[in-house]
Amino acid sequence: MKNLKLLALCAVVIGCLISCQKEDVTDTTLDEVTQQATKAQLEKLSKMGVNTEKVTIEDIPLPDGSKEKYLVSGDITIPVKNLEDYPDLLSLDGDNKQYRSDYIVAPQYRNIRILGWTGTGSTFDLTPKMQTALSWAVANYNVLPNTLNFTLTYGNDQSQADMVVYRVIGGAGGSAGFPTSAGRPNRYVRINSGLDSNTYSYNVVEHVIGHEIGHSVGFRHQDWYNRWSCGYTGPLPAEPSVSPAAIWISGTPWSPYADSIMLGCFNTGEDGEFTASDRDALNILY
Ligand SMILES: [Zn+2]
Repeated sequence: MKNLKLLALCAVVIGCLISCQKEDVTDTTLDEVTQQATKAQLEKLSKMGVNTEKVTIEDIPLPDGSKEKYLVSGDITIPVKNLEDYPDLLSLDGDNKQYRSDYIVAPQYRNIRILGWTGTGSTFDLTPKMQTALSWAVANYNVLPNTLNFTLTYGNDQSQADMVVYRVIGGAGGSAGFPTSAGRPNRYVRINSGLDSNTYSYNVVEHVIGHEIGHSVGFRHQDWYNRWSCGYTGPLPAEPSVSPAAIWISGTPWSPYADSIMLGCFNTGEDGEFTASDRDALNILY
C-alpha cells in the first residue's frame, strides 16, 4: 500500500513536471516566432478586406537573405512598415459591387517583369518543378485579352524585376501581398518547399502560383469572409454586402461556393486553370 501511494505521488510529480515543461516550451516558441498584431493594425487590415481572425507578425526571409516583418493572415502577407500605405477597400460605389481603381495595378505598371529566382544555390531557388509551374501560371495570365502583360525571366538580378517569385522552407502553399497605394504590383511571391512533394502535381503548383500572382495584382479571396474552402461550416451572409465588400467584382458570380483560383484553400485535385469567372474578373478589372 505504501509503495502504491509513493507510486501515485511520483506520477503526480512527474505529470506536473511534464506539463510545466510543455508550457514553457510553448511560451518560448510563441514569443520567438510570432507576435500579436495591434488593434490598430487589425482595423487597418479589416478595411483592406483581409480576414483578421488569425493574424500574426512574422519575420519572413527575402531572397537576398535579409528579413522583413510582415503581418500574416493565411497566405496574405503585408509588410508591417508599409501597412498604412495600402489603400482601404471602403470607397466602393453605391451598390457595393465595384472596386475603385487604386488598389489594382495602375495602367503605367501593367507591363510586369516577373523574375523566377534561380541560380544562387540557396534554399530560395525555385526547383525545376516550380519553374515549370510558374511558366504555366504566367502563360494563363498572358493569354487573357486585357491590359496586364507579364514578361518572365529566371535568375537572381532583382534590379530589373517588378515581381520576384522565390522558394521558402515550409509546408504546401504560398504567400503574397497586394498592390501598393502607388499602383505597383506586390513585389514578393513566396512558394513553399512542401509543394515539391509528389503529393502535389505540377497543376497544383501552377494553381498556387497563379493564386499568389492573383493577390499580387489585387484579388482578395473569393471566400474571404468565411474561407469555406478551408473547412468553414458556419452560417453564410445572405448577400455580399458586408463592409468591406472585398472580393466581389461586378459581373461575376458572388456565390461563396463558386469555383475560383482565388478560393482561400486548395486541394490536390486543382487543375491550375482559371475558371470562367476568374477570367471575367481579370478582364473586368484590367
Ligand atoms: Zn490566398
